[in-house]
Amino acid sequence: MTIVDDLKQALGDIVLTGTQIGERHRSDASLTGRELPKAVIRPTSSGEIATALRLCNENGQTVVVQGGLTGLAGGANAGKDAVVISLERYTGIEEIDPQAGTMTVRAGTPLEVAQRAAEDAGFLLPIDLGARGSCQIGGNLATNAGGIRVLRYGVTRDNVLGLEAVLADGTIISSLNKMIKNNTGYDLRQFFIGSEGTLGVITRAVLRLRPLPAGRLTALCALESYDDLVAFLTRCQRRLPGLSAFEAMWENYFRFNAEAEKLKFFDEIPPFAVIVEQDLLGDASERDGFEAFLGEALEDGIIADALIAQSEKESRSFWSVREGHAMDSQLPALVNLDVSLPIGDIGRFAAECGAALSQRFPAAHVSFFGHVADSNLHIAFSEPDSDADTPHIVDGIVYEIVRRYKGSISAEHGIGTLKRDFLDHSRSPAELELMHRIKRALDPNGILNPGKVI
Ligand SMILES: Cc1cc2nc3c(=O)[nH]c(=O)nc-3n(C[C@H](O)[C@H](O)[C@H](O)COP(=O)(O)OP(=O)(O)OC[C@H]3O[C@@H](n4cnc5c(N)ncnc54)[C@H](O)[C@@H]3O)c2cc1C
Repeated sequence: MTIVDDLKQALGDIVLTGTQIGERHRSDASLTGRELPKAVIRPTSSGEIATALRLCNENGQTVVVQGGLTGLAGGANAGKDAVVISLERYTGIEEIDPQAGTMTVRAGTPLEVAQRAAEDAGFLLPIDLGARGSCQIGGNLATNAGGIRVLRYGVTRDNVLGLEAVLADGTIISSLNKMIKNNTGYDLRQFFIGSEGTLGVITRAVLRLRPLPAGRLTALCALESYDDLVAFLTRCQRRLPGLSAFEAMWENYFRFNAEAEKLKFFDEIPPFAVIVEQDLLGDASERDGFEAFLGEALEDGIIADALIAQSEKESRSFWSVREGHAMDSQLPALVNLDVSLPIGDIGRFAAECGAALSQRFPAAHVSFFGHVADSNLHIAFSEPDSDADTPHIVDGIVYEIVRRYKGSISAEHGIGTLKRDFLDHSRSPAELELMHRIKRALDPNGILNPGKVI
């Protein structure tokens, strides 16, 4: 009997093989996965996941967990010898506790479904990212996703109170804690958050909910320099109590996406554009305050122009430029890099990085955008004559500059396979050795997502 036979015998028709396995299981959104796995298991309970892992562990069978497959680091890609556990059918909100302000949710639930359920109950689930329609709560936890509300509510890690995970040997660790304070020994949830499927399979989570804002004010601002941008950010943080987004776009990123969306906001494309968003906390005077705040920044010369969205449609048009979906279809072999640097250094870093990339690839599109308030910069790179080595050369150029600036090679997308060879640019040998020790302790046979992260 093979391991696949064992799995089929124990779990029945939730184990798919051969032509039953859909194409989507080949790769995450990095489109770097090449092979289909030898089996895909689609469980609907933690018990089935435990059975699958116990059998795989006993047989030394490698396992890759797949969530919504929107990851950008190759972490969910499985080779032909791996068994995939797909969480796509382990979905649903188990409970919303309005007194504790928590949601208990199954890992396969799409983020947007969880967000809507929270809103229907009068709460905000603050985890939010462009892939919300497809990414899953389990994937968000496994990658410690960032996104567009981090400035106000923190990264995914900051919005998780408890979780359940299944270890490589099939042990179910249920820590579905609902309390904010709980200092009873090691914080076990943190082993799994951000571990990209290498330490256990996340099966359920208790998420922290916040009061639903009464509405949102959105402005698109034009700025002349990165120094102005930092001064404006500081002022926004001091003066806008509901500040919930501060998203920056460098000139050529803004130009490309505004033109692609056929949108014209300013007479001239400014050197920098920023979307500022403020959650309304309930008082009608907040709109007047927001307008006065922007008027003052204009008078002081910190911003050069500002548009306040007058409707949801207008607000969405600002965001459509920032989300830049047009780039995916219009730029060949697009590479999206995701780095983190001290906020004050980002302007100089972008200039240096842009110059280095343009020198090596004179015909390439290089543009910058990002969640600057979270010290997070994204780089969009597209080379018309790209070949198989191009992404690695680009990584090498960018991450070497990141190392010099003492930044991080991954702000929010994780390490997966694509950044693994550069992990030592941001982590010391002692840190890496501790990671290996933790991996050996939780997964001694190395069956979980081998070759990923470390
Ligand atoms: C258009 C777009 C916009 C994006 N914007 C952002 C952004 O703003 N911020 C950001 O951080 N990311 C962003 N991403 C990246 C991606 O959406 C996130 O990393 C997301 O959290 C991945 O979730 P997923 O369910 O798709 O996971 P997958 O891609 O399926 O998996 C990601 C990793 O997590 C592991 N994993 C998945 N589920 C589990 C589980 N239940 N238990 C254990 N391990 C698991 C996988 O093995 C893999 O290593 C974006 C991606 C796209 C395509």
